[in-house]
Amino acid sequence: MTGSPVLTIRGLTVDYGTGTGAVRALRDIDLTLHRGEVLGLAGESGSGKSTLAYAVTRLLSPPGVITGGEVHYHPPGARDAAPVDLLALSPRRLRAFRWQELSIVFQGAMNSLNPVHTVHSQLTDVLKAHRPGMKAAERTARAEELLSLVGISTDRLTAFPHQLSGGMRQRVMIAMALALEPEIVIMDEPTTALDVVMQRQILRQLVRLREELGFSVVFITHDISLLIEFSDRIAIMYGGRIVEEADAAEIYRDPRHPYSDGLLHSFPALHGPRRELTGIPGSPPHLSAMPAGCAFHPRCGKAFAPCAERVPVPAAPDGEPARSVACWLHHPVPADSV
Ligand code: SF4
Repeated sequence: MTGSPVLTIRGLTVDYGTGTGAVRALRDIDLTLHRGEVLGLAGESGSGKSTLAYAVTRLLSPPGVITGGEVHYHPPGARDAAPVDLLALSPRRLRAFRWQELSIVFQGAMNSLNPVHTVHSQLTDVLKAHRPGMKAAERTARAEELLSLVGISTDRLTAFPHQLSGGMRQRVMIAMALALEPEIVIMDEPTTALDVVMQRQILRQLVRLREELGFSVVFITHDISLLIEFSDRIAIMYGGRIVEEADAAEIYRDPRHPYSDGLLHSFPALHGPRRELTGIPGSPPHLSAMPAGCAFHPRCGKAFAPCAERVPVPAAPDGEPARSVACWLHHPVPADSV
């Protein structure tokens, strides 16, 4: 299903604030999104998931600042074309890039439709701005096509947002995100405000559209059971780092990081065998008081001597080249640390 890289993130580091008051929100993030895949990003509030989405799309507002790393977009069908350095794009190129190559559906997006404009006007505005050569009739036809794509009857084109249900408003946002056929769609908690039935309906539709249109998705949520169901691969974040990354089925079958295991035991799965919901003791660390060593050690039932001193680096455990885990349980501890 998945192909060559479409987005590569290397060593991405983000601070909030500067100088002595700065706190580190993202630390050395390495992540690759492949063409056509759904990559899930999971973690509790404050783990850095949304900061990562804002940083990659250059929507981070002050006091957030990218202090290191690289983000490259790899254009389709151009094996020899140089990757696009997203962190170096001019504001003008960035504006064009955001809708045409990469679009975003943010948290609470279903409330971000303009209440005084019809669905037609909001969908065609995107086309007007980015496809200036398109005639009015073509824009309307495309708006109808987009509504149909997300399962809404075209007679709702003349509706105002308040005349639509929450699920329909969210589908309109997804239609808008797909208007210019981007290569990448980032969805930050896109269905959190919806009931579980509607959540799954919308996500099933998104996966079907991904199969039809071939875009890649970064799907961000704190609900790992949703990711297990709808992602190809999952990256788990804690304290601004990626602590485990593997195929969704592997994470479900055999989570290797104690935090991944805790997350899996925090949400009921809709399918498969029942798991006891034990949750994770304690609370996520505050950015200004990140524990030394492994940031998870104060909450980890498996912590041992080096965990409070040494930061585990993500690496493949023995015999599992497709998985990466940052935990001393799975890697030799350097001799000078114990
Ligand atoms: Fe737990 Fe230690 Fe692994 Fe961190 S490194 S998750 S504290 S066992």
